[in-house]
Amino acid sequence: MRGFSARATVEAALAWIDAHARRLGPETAALDALHGRVLAADLHAAIDVPPFDRSAMDGYALRGAETDGAGEYNPLSFAIAGQALPGRPFEGTVAPGCAVRIMTGAPLPAGADAVVPAEYATERDGRVEVTAPLAPGRHVGRRAEDVAAGALLLAAGRRLRAQDVGLIASVGLDRAAVVRRPAVRIVVTGDELAVPGTAKGLHQIYDANSSMLHGLVCRDGGLSAPMLRVADRAESIREAIVAPGVDVVLVSGGSSVGSEDHAPGILAQAGELAVHGVAMRPSSPAGFGRVGGTLVFLLPGNPVSCLCAYDFFAGRALRILGGRAPAWPHAVRRAVLTRKIASQVGRVDYCRVRLGDDGAEPLALSGASILSSTTRADGFVIVPGDSEGQAAGTAVDVYLYEP
Ligand code: AMP
Ligand code: MG
Repeated sequence: MRGFSARATVEAALAWIDAHARRLGPETAALDALHGRVLAADLHAAIDVPPFDRSAMDGYALRGAETDGAGEYNPLSFAIAGQALPGRPFEGTVAPGCAVRIMTGAPLPAGADAVVPAEYATERDGRVEVTAPLAPGRHVGRRAEDVAAGALLLAAGRRLRAQDVGLIASVGLDRAAVVRRPAVRIVVTGDELAVPGTAKGLHQIYDANSSMLHGLVCRDGGLSAPMLRVADRAESIREAIVAPGVDVVLVSGGSSVGSEDHAPGILAQAGELAVHGVAMRPSSPAGFGRVGGTLVFLLPGNPVSCLCAYDFFAGRALRILGGRAPAWPHAVRRAVLTRKIASQVGRVDYCRVRLGDDGAEPLALSGASILSSTTRADGFVIVPGDSEGQAAGTAVDVYLYEP
């Protein structure tokens, strides 16, 4: 065993990821699978929406100019020539002095240019009395007022909201080209690990990291391949790392310099170990690199380190591959520290904090094995490498765990 001789800065580690993670190519997804996906190409509308002028109210379609002077004390009377319903238009032309009963969404009949809402109209014996003046165009939804044929509907790179998918459907499309989701293999190492839900031996602990990583991968738009739990044997770990078929491999545990820490040597031999050891706390024994086109992240086994190393490095890579914004996906809240956070120049700290009425209370800086420090916390504060810490009363950005 030998300790780390030097540790990469977080900045240098992120720079390697930004230089080596590339957006994946496109695939086609059906309408109902588009929510949350990232558009791979600009989408243009082929048709107008709405495709015809239509009524925006239940009422009477007529020539607006003919209602000039109408009022409570001067009702104007029109002959009812028929009716227009959504999907069942009035086929004729509305002649002068006439009106057509019309419902919201029905095509505006030829000849008419305005709709009198039902509240300003009283129907009796085949005629309607109108008690308000209507300018031409009133209560009419114009053809193409929502989307014009040929217009840019949504731009490449857009992460689709539910209403974006609705808009795509509204122009008649049933699919779109989206960025492929990164396929991720989670490899969990550790002879001491037992599978949750099974009986365990006295000196075993339950595997907390694989389920946690699965959730993080889903959050960042990745597709988890079936997870692999492997023993601390170089050959098993090598097979799990080099097996083809995924864009990213996450290895939990065995990332450091102990006698059972096989993964760094395997990665160096099979491909490239670009970073091993990072000047941060927790997660300093993290590493990463690549085998062919696959990015491989070595995440320390201590659960808080595993979470933190994933969030700093692997998550960013996944988001870049999937075409998302690389930055932290957490919501940020500005808060004042209730106590100081001590740090060291040259080291980035990931400090769990709880938000209260007085501000952000630091809970834990060390204790990489205490996963409950992250469940009691509302979020975390990052103390940058060039800082000796943050004094009580300093306003800081709190990254919230809750989306
Ligand atoms: P390692 O990085 O493999 O040296 O593990 C560091 C510490 O994290 C040890 O105490 C392990 O028992 C623990 N650990 C490793 N993997 C897991 C896991 N999947 N779930 C919970 N604890 C783990
Ligand atoms: Mg281990």
